[in-house]
Amino acid sequence: MTNRWNLNDKNALITGGTKGIGEAVAKEFIELGAEVLVVSRNKEDFEKLKSSLQNPAKLSYYSADVSTTIGIESLAGFVNKKWSKLDILVNNVGTNIRKKTIEYSYNEFDKIIHTNLRSAFELSKSLYPFLKKSGQGNIVNISSVAGITHLRTGSIYGMTKAALIQLTKNLAGEWAADGIRVNAVAPWYIRTPLAETVLKNPDYYNEVISRTPMKKVGNTEDVAAAVAFLCMPSAAFITGQCIAVDGGFTINGF
Ligand code: NAP
Repeated sequence: MTNRWNLNDKNALITGGTKGIGEAVAKEFIELGAEVLVVSRNKEDFEKLKSSLQNPAKLSYYSADVSTTIGIESLAGFVNKKWSKLDILVNNVGTNIRKKTIEYSYNEFDKIIHTNLRSAFELSKSLYPFLKKSGQGNIVNISSVAGITHLRTGSIYGMTKAALIQLTKNLAGEWAADGIRVNAVAPWYIRTPLAETVLKNPDYYNEVISRTPMKKVGNTEDVAAAVAFLCMPSAAFITGQCIAVDGGFTINGF
């Protein structure tokens, strides 16, 4: 029974694991027994994260921009050298540019699509052989409630997050026979550097709270716990699902 509720002996890769939600997932995974590789563009945040850990030997780092082909290919090469199998891939990297639809440039479209969606698609594809070798592989895609319903995030962000939920379903169906489960989580507002850019406006913050039945924004740990559960043997029959971590936001019709 207890062996189902940990991540002992798991190798986990978390994109964007140095800040915000990714950082909390990295800490949660390490506490639960996993060895974790985090990827980001700036190494300083990794150094801070490492120095905050009781068990820093379980954490390693690779610098790559996963919105680029070269970043994805070099990361896949690094994983191939580091580990013989990969048990968990968390596609967490995400960015946004908030604008009205008619104001987006081609370059802005490409930046958001490549960072939020193409990175998850291409990394899942490149790392598929290693996840298959695990025999109990897991992918968790960090989507958003913006992929479930219309929010004021801008259309491109919403499109990428909706596409991640569909990617989750397609890969879950295709790769179930390989022992790979694929799930997603869809957070509502969570306190992170990315969300702080809009939450620091008190009027906006109060509006967010008024629309959230639990009357608070989430913590990064709330998301990390859901991600960890989905990767555990205890979730062995769950695949293709998206769990909203949203304080009731998406069920709050009126
Ligand atoms: P965050 O605080 O901005 O952290 C993003 C992480 O991704 C950082 O480690 C960042 O490090 C890394 N990163 C960004 N672009 C990258 C790239 N091209 N290549 C490699 N690493 C990159 O973001 P967050 O708020 O934790 O969000 C994490 C995920 O949750 C995103 O997908 C976001 O859309 C989703 N989400 C967040 C919320 C929320 O309220 N916070 C709600 C719903 C969904 P570097 O900058 O050093 O590269």
